[in-house]
Amino acid sequence: MAQIDVEDLAERVVAGSRPHIARALTLVESSRAEDRERTRELLRLVSRHTGRAIRLGVSGVPGAGKSTFIDALGCRLVDEHHLKVAVLAVDPSSSQTGGSILGDRTRMGELAERDDAFVRPSPSGGSLGGVARATRESMIIMEAAGYDVVMIETVGVGQSEVAVAGMVDTYLLVAVTGAGDDLQGVKKGILELADVMAVNKADGDNAPRARQAAEDFSKGLELVSAQAGERTVPVLTCSALEGTGLEDVWQAVVDHRHWLEHNGSLSRRRAEQQHEWMWNIVRNSIVESLRKDPVVADRMAGIEAGLGTEATEALDGAQQILRLFARRVPDQPWA
Ligand code: GDP
Repeated sequence: MAQIDVEDLAERVVAGSRPHIARALTLVESSRAEDRERTRELLRLVSRHTGRAIRLGVSGVPGAGKSTFIDALGCRLVDEHHLKVAVLAVDPSSSQTGGSILGDRTRMGELAERDDAFVRPSPSGGSLGGVARATRESMIIMEAAGYDVVMIETVGVGQSEVAVAGMVDTYLLVAVTGAGDDLQGVKKGILELADVMAVNKADGDNAPRARQAAEDFSKGLELVSAQAGERTVPVLTCSALEGTGLEDVWQAVVDHRHWLEHNGSLSRRRAEQQHEWMWNIVRNSIVESLRKDPVVADRMAGIEAGLGTEATEALDGAQQILRLFARRVPDQPWA
């Protein structure tokens, strides 16, 4: 980025200026060392304006209706609840394949037109780690800019789910009924992350099936949570297309937020996330520096290529890389 006055940018972000928010997000998404430094400064300057928003993760298999849902719910929150809504995304596929699962989109087209909404597609910079970092920091920018709700959409595949769960207060799983009355896209690992579940596409001929599936699923969850002495995840039905049931889903999100606040879990959850995040930054920075270091990079390919099937080869390879790196550590930008 060209010359920027970070203090001025911070002030304008807090004042809610859209072009400056866009500039701040571009800065946050950059992985250049000087931009990282500016980003840290920017986040520090705006940080006392953050922490009040509802941070909502929205997950579900591709086709479940996430973007239709976010568009419809977002418009409702802006128009009727008079809330400012930001939408961010974690879609590492956009950088791996050049094409994005979520798409850069005309998705959320209605919401994007609202003055009180800001829709930002997933950054397309490298690994999941990089994308997740940019999204997490973008969330801080949006909160500082006065957005009441920050929704983070995830692609519904792989590790992006876990990354998003690690940055939001409430994780909403959007499911749909498949063949029979079974729910689709409720993978075990993901179910454990969910705080609220919405069975979407409960409209037309599909409505009774969706309701039945939600009811069955809800009973199953109640049983499990009663045994474990934990909060029961509410399972609701909605139609993002027709706009029905969205209020109830939103109410469940708000209820979950109150529950988190009243039993002290909100600050605990956020503190745990900070802890996890700190180590994430350390791990990623070390690995990144390692790969960028010319001496290490020069030898790395050879060490990788030399790996066979012997159990000790990985140990030996790792040791070689670490030894090489240890000699170079004082040169690292983060040191
Ligand atoms: P995503 O991949 O999860 O973001 O799903 P999309 O929002 O792109 O929706 C996938 C398809 O399902 C689109 O053709 C939508 O029009 C459709 N769809 C989304 N929500 C509903 C709904 O509530 N009812 C019905 N019948 N179709 C829906």
